[in-house]
Amino acid sequence: MFRLTREDREDYEQFIATIQDAGHELEERRRQPLAQRTTRQEPANFEDIMAVHGERLANLNVTLCRECLYAIKPEDGGYCNDCRPE
Ligand SMILES: [Zn+2]
Repeated sequence: MFRLTREDREDYEQFIATIQDAGHELEERRRQPLAQRTTRQEPANFEDIMAVHGERLANLNVTLCRECLYAIKPEDGGYCNDCRPE
């Protein structure tokens, strides 16, 4: 578990909600046929999110799964338990 102050936690939970939204959008996009994808606006991807929020995440000792954007610890190696390559 992450050890956060109450203020950090509120901040963090709000932030995670934003991230999860981006993750859901990615998931939705994956389910669509390729032809439809090009007509949609690109949702946030891992690189975009890290470019904007990377420093803040690092301050909270948090990073995101490269596949599903789930919040993980940096020492988890870039992937959550569900997405980690075998
Ligand atoms: Zn994942």
